[in-house]
Amino acid sequence: MTPTERAALFRFTYPESDSSWIIIDGFNKGSSVKIIPSERKVVGWCRNNHGGVPSNFCNYFVITFDRDFREHHTWNENILNSNDLEEEGEHVGAILGFSTSKGEKVNMRVASSFISEEQALLNLESETGGMSFEDIKIRAKDIWNAELSRIKVEGGTDDQMRTFYSCLYRSLLFPRKFFEKNSKGDIVHYSPYNGQILPGYMFTDNGFWDTFRSQFPFLTLMYPDLNSQIMQGLVNTYLESGWLPEWASPGHRDCMIGSNSASLIADSWLKGIRDYDIETLYEAILKNTDSVGPVSSVGRLGADYYNKLGYVPYDVGINENVARTLEYAYADFCIARLAEALGKPQEEIALFRNRAMNYKNVFDKESKLMRGRNLDGSFQSPFSPYKWGDAFTEGNSWHYTWSVFQDVEGLVSLMGGKKGFTEMLDSVFTVPPVFDYSYYGQVIHEIREMQVMNMGNYAHGNQPVQHMIYLYNYAGEPWKTQFHIREVLDKLYNWLPDGYCGDEDNGQTSAWYVFSALGFYPVTPGTDEYVFGSPLFKKATLSFENGKKMIIEAPDNSRDNVYVGGISLNGKKIDRNYIRHSELQSGGRLKFDMQNSPNKTRGTSEESYPFSMSRE
Ligand code: CA
Repeated sequence: MTPTERAALFRFTYPESDSSWIIIDGFNKGSSVKIIPSERKVVGWCRNNHGGVPSNFCNYFVITFDRDFREHHTWNENILNSNDLEEEGEHVGAILGFSTSKGEKVNMRVASSFISEEQALLNLESETGGMSFEDIKIRAKDIWNAELSRIKVEGGTDDQMRTFYSCLYRSLLFPRKFFEKNSKGDIVHYSPYNGQILPGYMFTDNGFWDTFRSQFPFLTLMYPDLNSQIMQGLVNTYLESGWLPEWASPGHRDCMIGSNSASLIADSWLKGIRDYDIETLYEAILKNTDSVGPVSSVGRLGADYYNKLGYVPYDVGINENVARTLEYAYADFCIARLAEALGKPQEEIALFRNRAMNYKNVFDKESKLMRGRNLDGSFQSPFSPYKWGDAFTEGNSWHYTWSVFQDVEGLVSLMGGKKGFTEMLDSVFTVPPVFDYSYYGQVIHEIREMQVMNMGNYAHGNQPVQHMIYLYNYAGEPWKTQFHIREVLDKLYNWLPDGYCGDEDNGQTSAWYVFSALGFYPVTPGTDEYVFGSPLFKKATLSFENGKKMIIEAPDNSRDNVYVGGISLNGKKIDRNYIRHSELQSGGRLKFDMQNSPNKTRGTSEESYPFSMSRE
């Protein structure tokens, strides 16, 4: 088979037989088929879904063949209806038979639409019309080659190349395009929110809880045009449903936590991507800050408590309360930044800047960790930093304590200064890989993955901890970032079927690899900084949509030379531990001098530290 965006061509090769079959399965939860022998065609629809969509949700399909059917039948559940051309029910399908000589090929074209049968036919015509299987195959390959060529890496092993491009490929698979082009060539979509056919973009299948971290920042860096379309899609989602889609699949789904759309939107706008209605998105973000949505992932569960007390209490029946507090506080930082850029009133900016400091309310000085806090102000007791879930989301306190993207400097202070802070970072790797799974009642796969990785309580197989290694850059020990990043790049990823150490999650775990292999990572989306790590390749060339190229060089890179001795940008030495978005996008040369032992003085001065609110 070979694909286009909304269609696919299949080529079946048969032995010599008078019984060469193709079975069309409309799937359960409601389907229909209609065989039209004179047109060598089968059309139908399937309604299969897992909730969260309007009652008229339907995937229409059209299938055409390059030859007449020798025989044809329909089926309904387990009943064969040989004389029928149409079937509709809970689970129906069709059977098509051909007589074939040895090696004979039957070609089949399939397209689908969420709008109508006519639109499915239009998608088939516009995307595959007049093209052979080989034509489509060559075109698909060319399209992927062009996308994967936006970043060219050189000087690694074959396995490193395979892993890098596998990760880059997966970084680009989500969110899915849920829009189609009508007969006039206009962009239209079926709304998975109100069931209407409406103009404009729509994207789906994305959990922002995962992807705000680096997959969306990857799109803002390398795919600003697509990012702009996605923002237009967010505007439509808000207009059609009254909410931002925190976990669209394809409608609002009750999955994970947070209000992380604020990060995506602020990051996009502040990085200069502007072709969408930001005022509507700003209104939508503000609505999130004081509303509980129709499902727990939408809006902010516990918003009243959070806005009044500065945290979501542990003992008021709202789960994952510390995780919610930390993610709301970071979202509030993003809102403050966006409000500033949009020229909103000073009081509004100040309100969200203050709320961005709410992370302090769930920090426990005694354990130096984030910990559940009761309504009366006391901390949860008993408390185990090894307990997964409960106050946290698919992680424990060791993972969530670092979710202060907006103010790492403030977290350093809470931990008693740089020494205390880096000791706590070190501890994540040196504590035993033990865990308390009592909240879930079973060892969830994220826990098992951490145990198998055997890096203490470092749990790269899930998202909350993924930026943690970069935080040594905020406390004078960037060489530890370099060491651990290379460990993770080498040990926890490969290009084989078991190439991930946990959930890939809409490209987030892949985007981590792509950024980290290039030598930097967006620790704080909503700022213009990418924090340095240790690049994996001797050379990487980034071709941006603005036509500029950034060449990243590390000629002495090797398995042993994982430490950064010095960094220069366009021939000028820089001591800081980050590079700006505008610097990357301006193109030029970023050079890393690699060596086999830590340079314990580079990047250690206060001026070299990346952004923190406490430094502003
Ligand atoms: Ca995950």
